[in-house]
Amino acid sequence: MIVDYHMHLRDPDERIAHRVDAVEPFVETAARRGVDELGFTEHVYYFRETRALWDRPYESERCVYDLEAYVDAVVEAKRRGLPVKLGLEVDHVGDRQDELAAVLEPYPWDFLLGSVHNVDGLAIDSAPEEGVWAELPVDEVWRRYFGALAELAASGHVDVLAHPDLPKIFGRRPEEAVEYPALNGVALEISTNGRHKPVGELYPDPAFLEAAKAPITLASDAHVPENVGRDFDHAVELARAAGYETVTVFEGRRARQEPLG
Ligand SMILES: [Zn+2]
Ligand SMILES: [Zn+2]
Repeated sequence: MIVDYHMHLRDPDERIAHRVDAVEPFVETAARRGVDELGFTEHVYYFRETRALWDRPYESERCVYDLEAYVDAVVEAKRRGLPVKLGLEVDHVGDRQDELAAVLEPYPWDFLLGSVHNVDGLAIDSAPEEGVWAELPVDEVWRRYFGALAELAASGHVDVLAHPDLPKIFGRRPEEAVEYPALNGVALEISTNGRHKPVGELYPDPAFLEAAKAPITLASDAHVPENVGRDFDHAVELARAAGYETVTVFEGRRARQEPLG
């Protein structure tokens, strides 16, 4: 079994396309690349139902789409027999995580991704000299990032942690050893997206994966249909090198293991 459990439902020009017809090109690419099952995971801050959670322009400006329409598109694709799952990429929002979870509670998620893109309101992945990098020493970025990741894992509100060592995106590593976060049984994704960022590597590092001993998913973080399953030979190789023989499959937020490959 090969899953791609991280992608954003867009058209080939990367415009938001929360419609069932937009699912088909993703499924076609998946079939071509030997991916058995897809999970759509749009960013939570695109949906106006979550508006009360955001105070930065980055999220507020994007917060204009209808969550019901997105859910309906993926649910209808499932009903038509396409090999897709309903997910969402949920940001760490600190002490408001329960409030965000309550907004999401009515919908039939198969799994929820947990992501830390900011610490203390400062962006990690926007630009190498901006956001968190303009304000904090590198080691402090990593400490706060892993702290936020541990909070997400402990919240019970997410099933998989996305791009688990995102702060390496621009190639900056901690100088002193920073302790890996406790994962509380939450899965880690192996994301090939980092290969196409300045760091040029998969997320997470092999050492993190080996230390975590967590269940895994595979992820492209595709924002266009063409990138589904991209570089998955590298992801499978990393998983196998860390001793993994199974991959996690989700259904209604319940996890099971299937043979990897
Ligand atoms: Zn992300
Ligand atoms: Zn994403």
